[in-house]
Amino acid sequence: MSISTGHRIDRICTLDFHPGSGHLGSNIEALYQEALDVQGAPLTYLAAKGLIDTVSEGDTVFVITGTGIDKWCPAGETDGPVGCAALARGLTRALGAKVVAICEDEMAVPMKATLMAAGEYVFNEEMFFDMPSSAVTFEPFPLGPEKAREIAEELVKKYQPKAMIFVERLGPNEAGVYHFVTGTVNPPKGMSYGHHLVDAAKENGIFTIGIGDGGNEIGFGKIHSKIQEIVEVGRTCKCPCGKGMATVTDTDVLIAASISNWGAYGIVAMLAYFKNDLNILHDEETEYRMIEACALNGCLDGLFIKPILSVDGVPVSGNQAIVTLLRETVKKALMHYERAF
Ligand SMILES: [Zn+2]
Repeated sequence: MSISTGHRIDRICTLDFHPGSGHLGSNIEALYQEALDVQGAPLTYLAAKGLIDTVSEGDTVFVITGTGIDKWCPAGETDGPVGCAALARGLTRALGAKVVAICEDEMAVPMKATLMAAGEYVFNEEMFFDMPSSAVTFEPFPLGPEKAREIAEELVKKYQPKAMIFVERLGPNEAGVYHFVTGTVNPPKGMSYGHHLVDAAKENGIFTIGIGDGGNEIGFGKIHSKIQEIVEVGRTCKCPCGKGMATVTDTDVLIAASISNWGAYGIVAMLAYFKNDLNILHDEETEYRMIEACALNGCLDGLFIKPILSVDGVPVSGNQAIVTLLRETVKKALMHYERAF
């Protein structure tokens, strides 16, 4: 039952009706199929089960986003922070987890506002450490490669997380260069080198999940060679490095979704199913509030490059529709609930 529910949830997360997908040359159905073949079970099922197996009440989880900051998009985009906020809300309710949201400082204002819109107060450091469980705080990760490795190690030492979830968080290609999904280069000074958190996680036995929608995001290293076959700019980028935009950074579980936020919702939907509590997954009204808070505080739609109520070109109503489908699917599954894991 849980496997079939996972397949249904995965299918919703990979519905492709965003206007930029063909234009950008991405092919989420093909990327998803490769991710499924390599991992052997529904992706959202694997992620949620891994979290349940590794995170106990009061344990810390990192949720990390950031697709890069540039002069056209100075505070980042709406795909990423909204998924992180949905995860923070879901992880505190499902597992009693303590969640640290991490992104570039330039994105701090919309990230915190989106968390608040999800119903999660962003505690200061002292309060966060005082809380025994179910708390959220924020940590910035500075731009550029300098000291990125040390910062990643310091964050792990400070919080000792049991899991890290990367949502629309770009990873480097085999030449160590970050690229946008179009294959253009992301300037080093416009990017925080968050992939060092993956290295720190691997060294410390921390469970990792990567969620992306293009092939250039952390996690897609799991199917690196396949991305190069499926996506044209995966093999040949538009910058002198010549190694394509496909990232080499791998995670324990990779989730390929049509829009990265939706992959995050899919994990929360599976947590709601496993924990037999639909309210672990946010509702349509909360979806509206999160996207509104994110956009009004400076995050732009990644396709239109405007602070409008949409994500990757899909209006808020389309995102709410995904939430409705996920909620109805979980509701149906819980009618026949059996503890199958
Ligand atoms: Zn390049």
